Amino acid sequence: MQPVVQLEDIHRVYDTGEIKVHAVRGVTLTIQKGEFIAIMGSSGSGKSTLMNTLGCLDQPTSGRYLLGGIDVSRLGRNQRADIRNQKLGFVFQGFNLLSRTTALENVELPMLYGRRRISSHDMQERAEHCLEIVGLAERADHFPSQLSGGQQQRVAIARALVNNPQVLLADEPTGNLDSKTAVEVMGVFQKLNDQGITIVMVTHELDIARYCRRNLIMRDGKVVSDVQVTDRLIAETEMARLRDAESAAKLIA
Ligand code: ADP
Ligand code: MG
Repeated sequence: MQPVVQLEDIHRVYDTGEIKVHAVRGVTLTIQKGEFIAIMGSSGSGKSTLMNTLGCLDQPTSGRYLLGGIDVSRLGRNQRADIRNQKLGFVFQGFNLLSRTTALENVELPMLYGRRRISSHDMQERAEHCLEIVGLAERADHFPSQLSGGQQQRVAIARALVNNPQVLLADEPTGNLDSKTAVEVMGVFQKLNDQGITIVMVTHELDIARYCRRNLIMRDGKVVSDVQVTDRLIAETEMARLRDAESAAKLIA
């Protein structure tokens, strides 16, 4: 089967004038449809730079990037914007929702900016469907300030899904959430992944990476470890465990 992502010897050198920073130093990586990957590594190891490459936000200095078999490594700014809109979904640490805009309208945004012409009726239906997938159908008319952090991140995930992306990219998606909410959000990602959606996320938390199927570790711009997760955590099981612990604590109190 055609891999979703093929990176071939990707390098990225930032040239700031005075010094050159070799942030990514020869990454070769194949990602198949349905994978769920965590990228880990200490600060400065090149995770965000690699994610920016995967997200077509940035051009590699050298190397080839095939997305769904198409070489996207030499595309210009506008073409990359189209690819991002049509083929990629983004989830950020800080949710990045528009504050004066309802959950539903936030989810509709990527369709508004796309080249495909979609009627407002179809847009609304598609956005409602995505909110339903993340369990927020009844919050469609709420503004971000009326939602908890976990709910806001679920709106952001719905927004990332709305154009049926080939890959969902998430940079520290649980970084702003408490540990229980983080598990809930990992549960949403696991549910999407079970439906066949390919997910790549950056995290610095080992416990969060254990909800993924494959773990990469970066160091000094290189992938130094790449393993399948054998003892994968299942968010639903962990959430039930947390609820039991809470009930037990209440009984004792
Ligand atoms: P991580 O996300 O793992 O913390 P980054 O990809 O952000 O790592 O950074 C890798 C290296 O590249 C670091 O040394 C960082 O300082 C440098 N770097 C990142 N972005 C830029 C940039 N825009 N200009 C110059 N250097 C950068
Ligand atoms: Mg980073």
